[in-house]
Amino acid sequence: MPGALVISLDFELHWGVRDHTTVERYRENLLGVREAIPSMLDLFGRRSIAATWATVGFLFAETKKDLEKHFPRLLPTYDDPKLSPYEAMSEVGADETSDPFHFAPTLLRQIAKTPRQEIGTHTFSHFYCLERGQTAEQFDADLEAAASIGRAFGEGETMRSIVFPRNQSNDAYQDVMRRRGIRAYRSNGPHWAYRAEARETPARRAFRLLDAYLPASGSRAAARPTARPREDELVDVPASAFLRPYTPRLRHLDAVRFRRLAFAMTRAAETGRIFHLWWHPHNFGRHPRASMAFLERLVGHYEMLRTRHGMESLTMAEASGATEARPLRRDSPSPGGALDR
Ligand SMILES: [Zn+2]
Repeated sequence: MPGALVISLDFELHWGVRDHTTVERYRENLLGVREAIPSMLDLFGRRSIAATWATVGFLFAETKKDLEKHFPRLLPTYDDPKLSPYEAMSEVGADETSDPFHFAPTLLRQIAKTPRQEIGTHTFSHFYCLERGQTAEQFDADLEAAASIGRAFGEGETMRSIVFPRNQSNDAYQDVMRRRGIRAYRSNGPHWAYRAEARETPARRAFRLLDAYLPASGSRAAARPTARPREDELVDVPASAFLRPYTPRLRHLDAVRFRRLAFAMTRAAETGRIFHLWWHPHNFGRHPRASMAFLERLVGHYEMLRTRHGMESLTMAEASGATEARPLRRDSPSPGGALDR
């Protein structure tokens, strides 16, 4: 089997960082998303690149009223109450026009009409599956709400892929995911510096920074499933690398960073494995053009590997084998018709 490039994006806007930073402090990134996402979609569309957009359910809402209508029957009872977004609803505006930090239906419509893009879930409320105080029942209710708001938007039945907030993948919740129709998830892989359940330490952080520039952890590419998974099978499509945004302070090292990622992608192409690259759209919000230029170079490297080794570009659901990969026909009559439904 040929190797594959899988791209997944954790689309969350302020919901993903609200316990760390305020809208005011993160304003530039959160507004920059509105330039960054259309640029990414333009690149993916022009160059036939597939991607999975793991989206926080809250972002589908047209209005705050609409959002509240979809609230789950059980809310998370984290020991640390500041983790719950339901405690902070007074900070949320009426709709996307008045509050572009908490709503994104217009961006989601652009994603949905771009060929080869899969809309997955990043849970309804940016749910933390390993935090103390929450339960499997609450997670189930959260995924039910995500499906319900997605369905209202026209995506619900097709949400087959999940990315766990803060990469907190909890193996004990696999039954819940199966029940809710999830087929593919992204773990952080077994490496000690990336494992989800381990406590964060300065050593882990330092290793990951080093690993962005030098092949400290190797290629972290995963084997491709050889058989089609059973109807209720959950497939891990583990992350291989985080695409760090352009940072002026580290720009002198960008050639090294590029070589590091290109090396890992090449290894995956040569060995028939999956190279899974991920980031948050808001990471590109600060320096969208420089970050896009870097991504375009990576896409160029992938195209070389496609020619040389037949490397494919797949969504998470396609890489898991749960859905058929559909080669993009350049003459597709309507962009909406070419979606992975
Ligand atoms: Zn997140």
